[in-house]
Amino acid sequence: MRMRDKVAIVTGAASGIGRGIALAFAREGAKVAIADLDLERAEAVAEEIRDADGQAIGVAMNVTEEAEVDAGVQRTVNEFGGVHVLVSNAGVQMIGPLDDLPFETWKKMLAIHLDGAFLTTRACLRHMYAQKEGGSIVYMGSVHSKVASLLKAPYVTAKHGLLGLCRVAAKEGAAHGVRANVVCPGFVRTPLVDKQIPEQARELGISEDDVIKNVMLKDTVDAEFTTVEDVAEATLFLAAHPSNAFTGQSLIVSHGWCME
Ligand code: NAD
Repeated sequence: MRMRDKVAIVTGAASGIGRGIALAFAREGAKVAIADLDLERAEAVAEEIRDADGQAIGVAMNVTEEAEVDAGVQRTVNEFGGVHVLVSNAGVQMIGPLDDLPFETWKKMLAIHLDGAFLTTRACLRHMYAQKEGGSIVYMGSVHSKVASLLKAPYVTAKHGLLGLCRVAAKEGAAHGVRANVVCPGFVRTPLVDKQIPEQARELGISEDDVIKNVMLKDTVDAEFTTVEDVAEATLFLAAHPSNAFTGQSLIVSHGWCME
């Protein structure tokens, strides 16, 4: 029970990686807020956790909306008595070449990934500092926090930006016992990636099979996708680690795609 009595907020937890992290946290004893744009699916994940004798609530939250973020974090604190862990995970993918990228797409991507990470961080830090029980923030980065790929300018920019936010949060949080780290997964078969396969095939003029073999998994050591469980385990490790030894770090979980 590595998360016994901890309260965790996981954004984007109605699907994919966030859902996997929420389930893993709950199994380890955490009380989990499933914060997502999609309240119906968030409630379904919370119910799944409660059915397994865990504790969870669904929270409606658009991470780009300041008032919704503050209200969702406050609701979690009211319900569970505090907040100890934030996993800033909500994200989307929109691809396109730089010379043809609508400004709206750029702004939307940066808002979800970076404004969302900032707003949830700020809201949680205010409670963590006041509680005086320390805390842990884990940002969902990507191998694209370290390397670039064709067609992904806003995503790569935002994921690199999270490293900066994490490092400042680690420095400022230290005085309050709050740690901050980034998990950097390779490709994981979630709805976000399934949507990209035909899009990339179209943009690059290659088959969907080639997108998987020659784009997504090309540089892994074993041509394997990373799994939701792999990412959840790495996140759990960073969230639950008992000392300040791990702070300001990024942990790559990618079948060797990136070895930086
Ligand atoms: P997903 O599409 O399965 O889940 C994303 C969730 O985020 C959805 O439930 C969606 O409703 C929610 N969401 C989107 N916009 C939101 C907003 N504005 N406010 C609140 N919630 C919002 O995707 P996933 O693959 O599980 O991705 C989760 C995170 O992991 C993202 O940050 C993504 O960039 C990152 N990531 C994914 C992969 C991968 O290969 N799947 C690899 C590296 C990093």
